[in-house]
Amino acid sequence: MSVNNDVRIDQPLLTALKSKHETFWPNSLLKSYHTIKKNPSLNRNELYQAEKLLRRFAPYLSLVFPETAEMNGMIESPIQWLPSMKKALQEHYHSSIPGNLVLKCDHELPIAGSIKARGGIYEVLKYAETLALKNNRLNIHDDYSKLASETFRQFFSQYSISVGSTGNLALSIGTMAAKLGFNVTVHMSHEAKEWKKSLLRSKGVNVVEHANDFSFAVDEGRKQCMADATCYFIDDENSLDLFLGYAVAALRLKKQFEEEKIQVNENHPLIVYLPCGVGGGPGGVTYGLKHVFGDHVHCYFAEPTHSPCMLLGLATGKHERISVQDIGLDNKTDADGLAVGRPSALAGRLIERLVNGIYTVDDQNLYKMLALLHSSESISLEPSALAGMYGPVLTQVHSHLETIKLTKDQLKNATHLVWATGGSLVPPAIMEDYIAVGERCLKEKPENPI
Ligand SMILES: *Cc1c(COP(=O)(O)O)cnc(C)c1O
Repeated sequence: MSVNNDVRIDQPLLTALKSKHETFWPNSLLKSYHTIKKNPSLNRNELYQAEKLLRRFAPYLSLVFPETAEMNGMIESPIQWLPSMKKALQEHYHSSIPGNLVLKCDHELPIAGSIKARGGIYEVLKYAETLALKNNRLNIHDDYSKLASETFRQFFSQYSISVGSTGNLALSIGTMAAKLGFNVTVHMSHEAKEWKKSLLRSKGVNVVEHANDFSFAVDEGRKQCMADATCYFIDDENSLDLFLGYAVAALRLKKQFEEEKIQVNENHPLIVYLPCGVGGGPGGVTYGLKHVFGDHVHCYFAEPTHSPCMLLGLATGKHERISVQDIGLDNKTDADGLAVGRPSALAGRLIERLVNGIYTVDDQNLYKMLALLHSSESISLEPSALAGMYGPVLTQVHSHLETIKLTKDQLKNATHLVWATGGSLVPPAIMEDYIAVGERCLKEKPENPI
């Protein structure tokens, strides 16, 4: 497909994307939250319904995943202040970050160790509940810990669940669905890490490996699943349930901010930076956050320079009808969770007027920030999860915020919330390699033009 002929996109932007230069794209479709509140496809009530479903399952989760017992079966992550990382970033990138730097620690989410523990687990639980209710095996007022019984596992074993993934969604869905008793098949794209596959196999999950990228793995999974009447396909390119599972994070964050006395209002803006693959995770979180904080929250997505699929989809208005391969990019990045060439059809449309902008980041910088975060705060993340960390140092982001009328004083009171999306399940030896690569990058290329 010749993108230059039939797609409207700013030429300098297209050139920057094609040459894999780090780029910032301000979203010109951005609207005030209040003008788009009445989105017919989703409403605030669905967010609360999703949160309620998770609460019904809490007794079950705390029973079968003891690591969630401490939080009474809630799958939630803490937030953490990053004063030392703020210093390290400012020094390394010769920039100044006005306001506070805070990390949302989704790498610590129980069960899956990544943001996928939100969407993936929610959709599996919702499907399980629907099946059990429909077959009169469960009442919505029951104590759901009964789902841990052998009878229920037998019941769920008549059904199968399938998903296509770059790794983490498979970990989340595979672990949860296998625990309930489902037959689970995960279709992994070529960048999926070996340790993720072996971990899944050890849980009794059927792992199918594909030599192609994410979209192919999803297509293949969808096709095979459709041929089987007892198979339910969790569609990362099109699922409203996944999206809602991510969005619930916003309701929880509001409470955490209240506990930490972090204000979000006109004079205290919240600026959020989210790593983006297919778009469901960052999209769902953004959607939820705008419902909770309105126009006082500003959300930016971060993508690898080799896989800027959401940027391309939104900037051209073509959404899932364009891929990074169409403009000659290879979709090859060490940020395996973000190695997606074509954005979600659903997420892009739900957030096209909500996301403030998207920037791209080089793998080198992901590794550098990985090493900086490790040395400054002793926090270890997988490469994908660092993409958000680049936002607070980008001058383009700051000047974009100024053009949407945030003053220097407001920025001084800002909270920069970097969404850390994964890493706690990475085997220690592999994490050491990541850190070593990062340290080498810091030495070899001490300065980086932005
Ligand atoms: C999946 C993933 C993301 C992005 O989520 P999408 O829904 O694919 O946009 C970000 N970080 C990590 C570590 C992930 O696994």
